[in-house]
Amino acid sequence: MTWTILGAGSLGCLWAARLSRAGLPVRLLLRDRQRLNAYRALGGITLVEDGRESLYPIPAETAAQGAPIQRLLLACKAYDAESAAASVAARLAPGAELILLQNGLGSQQAVSAHLPRARCLYASSTEGAFRESDFRVVFAGRGQTWLGDKDGGPAPGWLTELEQAAIPAQWSENILERLWRKVALNCAINPLTVLHQCRNGDLASHPEEVAKLCDELGQLLHASGYPEAARELQGDVERVIAATAANFSSMYQDVAQGRRSEIAYLLGHACREGDRLHLAMPQLRALHERLRAYLVARGLPDT
Ligand code: NAP
Repeated sequence: MTWTILGAGSLGCLWAARLSRAGLPVRLLLRDRQRLNAYRALGGITLVEDGRESLYPIPAETAAQGAPIQRLLLACKAYDAESAAASVAARLAPGAELILLQNGLGSQQAVSAHLPRARCLYASSTEGAFRESDFRVVFAGRGQTWLGDKDGGPAPGWLTELEQAAIPAQWSENILERLWRKVALNCAINPLTVLHQCRNGDLASHPEEVAKLCDELGQLLHASGYPEAARELQGDVERVIAATAANFSSMYQDVAQGRRSEIAYLLGHACREGDRLHLAMPQLRALHERLRAYLVARGLPDT
């Protein structure tokens, strides 16, 4: 069965290149005719890995037209996910499976609600890749991808294809908790790195601010049904700050490069869930407002 990949950005190209070189059928769905022409002019995807680059001439088409889709990897940003899924809705075969690679939470639920007849699997990845230029991607950090079905269905048979393609992936029985843990970590670290204009490690000199956020995020995790995640959060945050001390967070990098951030699916999602659960969360809400004001002042979207 063909792996159809929507979005030839960092993760989309990383997956496409590895699946293709394992001999598995892959096709890319690009936004429009103009992007398709630009892709064809380059002759394929270039993946740079350990300093070596390889060209993968993977077939591509626009999202709007083509054969029915049975398995779709949705590899766009969270804020594009719902419209991207809508753009291929008419092409989805009965019982189609979607793998949603988006960071944060909220976009997955929007896609699932839009496509009630498809099976939507959620993913959480620690792999790292970035776009050097159009359709040219650098594999920057080895990691792992967890996949799961929030409705508890069985693990799909195609996990063996990921193994064959050397894509480190594991089935998770609690994918929502995994995504929530990542959202909480992100909310405790990333916005502060933007507002203080610092590397992750520099947050060690703002221990009280971090601790107050962890306290409220812990309440949110607890109220969402993840007491263990709530208990472990502060320690997890301190470990990540120490282990990634020299790094700039993804949100810091987005803002520094004038790119739209995924704030609505991270801090925004945490605040919306706090509303739903009637949690006050004053520190988180103040942080959200400060971050939004910071983005607006730089001409960037605050949602
Ligand atoms: P990215 O490099 O910006 O790539 C997104 C791609 O989606 C772009 O190529 C974009 O097309 C395409 N796209 C958007 N809407 C589309 C549509 N309607 N039809 C066709 N293509 C469409 O993003 P990314 O870094 O791969 O991130 C994807 C998700 O994975 C994000 O939620 C991110 O947080 C998460 N993630 C990324 C990494 C990483 O290391 N990169 C790691 C873990 C998680 P254009 O090129 O035409 O704009």
